Amino acid sequence: MHAQELFQALPKVDTLLNHADFAQTNKTLLKPLITKHLQELRQEIQEIYTKIKTQDSAHSHTQSAPDSHAVAQIQEKIHNLNQTIQNAYNALFTPTLVPVVNASGVVLQTNLGRSVLSEEVAQKLLPLITRYCTLEYDLDKGTRSSRYTHANALFQTLFQTDYEFLVVNNNAAAVLLILQTFAKNKKVLISRGELVEIGGGFRIPEVMKQAGCELLEVGATNKTHLSDYENALSAECAMILKAHKSNFTQIGFCAEVRMQDLSTLAQKIGVIDYYDLGSGYVSGLESLPHAHYTSQNSQEPSLKEIFSAPPSLLSFSGDKLFGSAQAGIIAGKKELIENLKKNQLLRALRVDKLCLGVLQASLEVYLQNDFDAIPTLHMLRISPNFLLSRAQEFLKILRPLESMYNFEIIKVDSLSGGGSLPDMKFESYGIAISAKAFSCTQLEERLRRDYSIITRIIADKVVCDIRTLLDGDETRIFEALKSLAEK
Ligand SMILES: *Cc1c(COP(=O)(O)O)cnc(C)c1O
Repeated sequence: MHAQELFQALPKVDTLLNHADFAQTNKTLLKPLITKHLQELRQEIQEIYTKIKTQDSAHSHTQSAPDSHAVAQIQEKIHNLNQTIQNAYNALFTPTLVPVVNASGVVLQTNLGRSVLSEEVAQKLLPLITRYCTLEYDLDKGTRSSRYTHANALFQTLFQTDYEFLVVNNNAAAVLLILQTFAKNKKVLISRGELVEIGGGFRIPEVMKQAGCELLEVGATNKTHLSDYENALSAECAMILKAHKSNFTQIGFCAEVRMQDLSTLAQKIGVIDYYDLGSGYVSGLESLPHAHYTSQNSQEPSLKEIFSAPPSLLSFSGDKLFGSAQAGIIAGKKELIENLKKNQLLRALRVDKLCLGVLQASLEVYLQNDFDAIPTLHMLRISPNFLLSRAQEFLKILRPLESMYNFEIIKVDSLSGGGSLPDMKFESYGIAISAKAFSCTQLEERLRRDYSIITRIIADKVVCDIRTLLDGDETRIFEALKSLAEK
C-alpha cells in the first residue's frame, strides 16, 4: 500500500459537509470539526511513511512495506469517520457541568461543588437574578451604596458582634487580601504545624509569597508554645497568623497555642492577630451520638464561641460547614475592615449578586436556628436510625432488580470532607451492590460515566451511602441499575 492510496481514501471536506449523514447539522460548526479530523488522519498517514523512509535510509536500498497493522487502523478510522465527526458534533451541545448523584458519603466534596443549597434558599435567589436589584443602590437616599452592606447586619446579628463583615470570592482570596493589606514587605508569624496545604494547591506559604510577606516560622511541626512566638517577635513583624488545621489532624505528642492567647500577645505588642478558620462552623453538630472523633484533641471551634473573644481579624469559607455559596467571609474590627476596603485588590476579588443573594438567604435560615434547612448540616445531623429505615425503603425499590444484582444493607462511616472535620466519622448505612454480570470496578465506572452516579467500592462491592442521597436519588440509582442490566 502506497501513501498516496491512503491519502486518496480520505474524503474531501466538501463531500463530508454535504453528506446525507450531516443533513441535520449546523454547517458553520461542522466544518472546523471535519477539517480537524481530516488533518489528524493526514498526519497519522504521514507518520507511517516517514517511519519507513528513516528505516530505509538506515538500511540502504531496501524498500520496506508500511506497518500493516497501522495501515489497517487508519482504514478503520476512515471507515468510521462520519460517526466520529457526528460524536464530536454532538459533544458540542452536551454540557459538562451537570448534576450528579453523590452516593459517596462525603458530604462536602470540592470536586462535586461542595455545599448543596436548599430549594428554599434557591427560590429566594431567583427574583434577585431575573430582575434588577439593589446590589449597590440605596433606595432611601436614591444614591449609590456598597455591595458589602447586604450581608453585614445579618452576620452581626447572627454572631452578636459589632465586628464588620466583608465578603470576597473565596477564603483563599480572603487570606490573600488580608496578608497583602497588612503585611506586605513585612513578617508574618505562623506555627510550623500550620503551614498547611488546603487542597487544589492552596498552600499558606505560597499565598504569603504572593502577598509579598515574609514567613516567620515558629515552633516545631508537632509542638508550638507561646514562648516560641514571643521570642520571634521583632519590629518588622506585622501579624500573627493562626491557620486552622481544617483537613488534617495531629495526634500524639503535639501542642498548639490557643488563638485567644495569641490575640493577647499580639494586642500587647501592637501587631495584628488573624485567624484563618477555614471551614466556618456555626452550630448544629454538638453532641451528635452518631458523630465520633477519632482523636479528642481537635474539637472544631464554633464561630459563636470564637466571637465571644474574637481575634482582630478572622476569615472562613462560605461553602464548607457554613453550607452556603462559595465565598470568603472576613470579620474584623471596623478600622481593619475599612483598610481592606481601600485595597485596590478587593475589586478583583469582589463577589456578585448571586453569591450575596445566596449568603443573605442562608443567613435568614441561620437566624431562625433552622439548621436542617442547611443541607450540609442536615446531612451531617441525620441519625443512623433514620438512615437505616431509608435504606430499607430503598431496598424495596430495588427488589425488582434482584435477579441481576445482589443488594445488602451495610454499616458505613460517612465523612464531612472538603477540608473540614478531618477526624470525625459519622455512622451511616449504605446499600452494597454487586452485579451478577460484571465486576464491581465495571459497575462503579459505568454508574459514574453513563449515569453521573458517584459511589465507593468497599470489599469488592459498590456502596451507595444513604447519608448524602438527596430527594429522588434512589429512583435515579434504580433506573440506572435497571438500564445497565438491560444493555
Ligand atoms: C478551605 C480553607 C481555605 C481556602 O478556602 P476556599 O474557600 O476553599 O478558598 C483557606 N484556609 C483554610 C484553613 C481552609 O480550611
